[in-house]
Amino acid sequence: MHESKNINLTPFNTLALPGQAARYQKITTPEQLAAATTANEKRFILGGGSNLVLNGNFDGLILHMAIPCKRLLKEDAESFYIEAGAGENWHDFVQWTLQQGYPGLENLSLIPGTVGAAPIQNVGAYGIEVGELLHNVTAWDFEKQAFLTVDRSACRFGYRDSVFKQQGWHLSGRMAITSVVFRLPKAWVANTRYADVTQELAAQQISTPTPQDVANAIIAVRQRKLPDPAIIPNAGSFFHNPVVDHNVAHALASQNPALPCYPQPDGRVKLAAGWLIEQAGWKGKNLGPVGMYEKQALVLVNRGGATGADVRRTMAAVQADVKARFGVDLTPEPIFL
Ligand code: NAP
Repeated sequence: MHESKNINLTPFNTLALPGQAARYQKITTPEQLAAATTANEKRFILGGGSNLVLNGNFDGLILHMAIPCKRLLKEDAESFYIEAGAGENWHDFVQWTLQQGYPGLENLSLIPGTVGAAPIQNVGAYGIEVGELLHNVTAWDFEKQAFLTVDRSACRFGYRDSVFKQQGWHLSGRMAITSVVFRLPKAWVANTRYADVTQELAAQQISTPTPQDVANAIIAVRQRKLPDPAIIPNAGSFFHNPVVDHNVAHALASQNPALPCYPQPDGRVKLAAGWLIEQAGWKGKNLGPVGMYEKQALVLVNRGGATGADVRRTMAAVQADVKARFGVDLTPEPIFL
């Protein structure tokens, strides 16, 4: 275990933005965290860097989570309990669970990032959120200098939200998630209600899909619609889907009959941010070196040589145009460092 100085962070963020870290350390065991830093030192916990906008240089310590582990912890009559280290690549972990015969996470295939980052924003895709299948999270608390286990209910999961975000624990570097345990029910039911998934399975002439069939369909859809960060740097969906009051959605839908509306359990209505951005004229449009992707307007892309300031400029322009056209505020998903 050793610390490096003045490390280039461009390879560590999928938007490929420039910036240097004054100090950097790779963490491969939970115990290294205790020795790495003092309680009130400026630090940032880095996973896959796939949900990050770098504003430039970072004058603190980057702790790069690379803790490995994937194993069956235990099983009972109803469920498999699977433990994964925070540094495991999320997609590789999901594929491993399927190969081992532990279904449930297949709809979350090809989401970029690490296992440790997934609970922070409760990543979700195609009708499944990580919080639904999570049993508990183990984290190192830098303030208390102790490990703690956070059960699912204490994670306070919401739409792309968790206690780790609500309390600012992640952004302030107060806590580092070291491992996650998932509880995957043995009674598996395919969740194929999203139109893209239904259509892909139909095109492949699969009527009773296995978990791997669902994963393969989702991988195919995502590869068609989403840019590979290794080729076109991006941070996945850049804005949250706005959730608005029923009355607001009703008024918008009467002016825009094609507006996609998804009623929520609390009576409010989720709108598709990508659709709003496209209608505001931003699909495939650039401002300087930053644009919104031509095949999926929700994805902000670095066309080459962009800085964090360029990203913020395009983000603000998109937000302003959507607000002017629909009166709806868009909130960015990534963390700004
Ligand atoms: P899409 O299929 O073009 O649909 C647009 C939006 O409408 C989605 O964001 C989705 O909301 C919502 N939607 C579509 N069908 C729905 C249904 N049957 N019930 C409820 N809501 C529905 O979406 P996309 O941009 O290609 O993304 C596909 C999936 O991957 C989405 O679930 C998206 O959230 C997910 N994704 C997640 C991340 C992330 O976690 N950061 C990044 C990229 C993509 P939801 O977003 O609430 O599902």
